[in-house]
Amino acid sequence: METTNFIKDLKSKGLKLNNSRMQILELFLGNHTSYSAPELVELLKSKMDRATVYRNLNFFVENKILDQIQLQSEAPKYELTILEHHHHLICKHCKKISCIKSKSLESALESTKNEINDFTITDHVFEFYGLCKDCINDEE
Ligand SMILES: [Zn+2]
Ligand SMILES: [Zn+2]
Ligand SMILES: [Zn+2]
Repeated sequence: METTNFIKDLKSKGLKLNNSRMQILELFLGNHTSYSAPELVELLKSKMDRATVYRNLNFFVENKILDQIQLQSEAPKYELTILEHHHHLICKHCKKISCIKSKSLESALESTKNEINDFTITDHVFEFYGLCKDCINDEE
């Protein structure tokens, strides 16, 4: 979805997008990447305080504009919910997160669903951990 349409859509739903909310959204929309709360606090420190960042993140999650990516031992990262369903490659060394779309992974997860009878699966979260290209090269 185009950025301006996305903003228009939110406004038409009656969401109040004040200055600080717009500044946070623009970061996500501009870079199509994920940020943790501490990263956002750092990026926005000249514009708003820590409490405002946290309060607005909660607002975006409650209104299903941002989703949390749960990480093993790190602060969760956030990304836009309008991105198509996908999974992540998480570097254990530099903590960089890349998004991946994989047909074979989806069909494997889909067939698991068919093997389970007494539970209705509606959703899934699945992330890969490892070392990114830069970090593997560093170790040599
Ligand atoms: Zn790395
Ligand atoms: Zn992603
Ligand atoms: Zn999936």
